Amino acid sequence: MLLFSNVKKLYDGTSADASAVHHGVDLHVDEARGAILELRPHDPALRLGDAHTRVDGSDLVITPGLIDCHGHVTVLGLRDDDIARSNADENLLYVEKVLYRTLVSGGVTTLRDVGGATHKMKRLVDEGVLIGPRLAISIGMLSTTGGHADFRGPDRCHATLSKLWPPGPGRPSNIVDGPWDCRKRVREIAACGADLIKVCASPGVASPSDHLEHRDFTSAELRAICDEAGARGLKVAAHAHSRSGIELAIECGVSDLQHISFLDARLAEMAHKAGCTVTPTSWVMDELTRADGLTPFVMEKVKRVVESHRRAVEFAYRGGLEILAGGDAVIRGMHGRNYLELVHLTRDGLSPLSAWYGATGLAARHIGRPDVGTIAPGQRADLLICAGDVVADPEIFAARGSSAILEVFKDGVGYRGTIPGTPHRTFAMTVDSVLDAP
Ligand SMILES: [Zn+2]
Repeated sequence: MLLFSNVKKLYDGTSADASAVHHGVDLHVDEARGAILELRPHDPALRLGDAHTRVDGSDLVITPGLIDCHGHVTVLGLRDDDIARSNADENLLYVEKVLYRTLVSGGVTTLRDVGGATHKMKRLVDEGVLIGPRLAISIGMLSTTGGHADFRGPDRCHATLSKLWPPGPGRPSNIVDGPWDCRKRVREIAACGADLIKVCASPGVASPSDHLEHRDFTSAELRAICDEAGARGLKVAAHAHSRSGIELAIECGVSDLQHISFLDARLAEMAHKAGCTVTPTSWVMDELTRADGLTPFVMEKVKRVVESHRRAVEFAYRGGLEILAGGDAVIRGMHGRNYLELVHLTRDGLSPLSAWYGATGLAARHIGRPDVGTIAPGQRADLLICAGDVVADPEIFAARGSSAILEVFKDGVGYRGTIPGTPHRTFAMTVDSVLDAP
């Protein structure tokens, strides 16, 4: 048993209210089961058996491990050479590095990958072969011919293959046209082990030939996708920048609206009535302005979304929409700094606790993992152990980076080995567990 004793401050992930913040508490962890045992007021007289490890928590701030609701672990960057590397045979070796950094540096213990990650990657994490956050996966990112996931560009030099995630084992093509084709592809993706369906309801920023203001799918196609996903118990998350794309997504039954660059008050009200969540991906909007290797056509689109994005987040927040934290780490240098989404959500007007809730308990509920995201008895023991008060002030992450986090626990095991006496796991230990006799 592991006891964090007299913890200075603990955010439990159950809401965005002050009631979710505790001071001077004892947190008991059953590391053998990887679960939270108890959270209760500090008891200075508590006597522990020999099997217990006590960690003095009087200087520590503890939160649930982060849940990133918009990841792409297969994407190393947006430049042509990055995409070529992402699609090479050795891609899984790169994915291993991304996953490791996302957990150990980024503090992400659960990641919803909304395009690229396959069931094989998810399984290898679950088996302990890869060190990384547990995954929820959409496998593909459905778009029309010429839509956001069609990265062939105006010269079409890659013939029938998309440069972005060409179809391969465990990952059917992202490009789909016509309602029956849409239905068949959803069935295929579901059969490949997807946890959700991702669709591009509008054109995108990084895609080489589509224009932001246009629409992508027809209503009949998007309805077919949502209907077929719903029949298999899968929610649909939609990439949606333009007003027409956002409106279409809401009308057709999408659950989560992502990016939302041109959302206005009317659409926020519509989304609220329909019970949609939003994942604004605020951090990547800032990173895109500094990305190199993008074409002038793409940079022009970047300029336009950045101008309206902050206002869109304000509309969503004031309109009472539930806001999920998703980093969209697709540019060089972003993987492993996922905590910066908290910083950018608060810069866009969310209260610090609203941002934290969107990265913990609220996110867990909406991605179908109610066993994570909160610190309560029986929950998975996913924890961030921090020294400064990142709960009140996420800007600490911007100032101090990954060193604002002392330790990342996933399932009761630390991955940095910085707190003496607590269980931890290193890369070398995964090698041993794969190669040595059990
Ligand atoms: Zn994305």
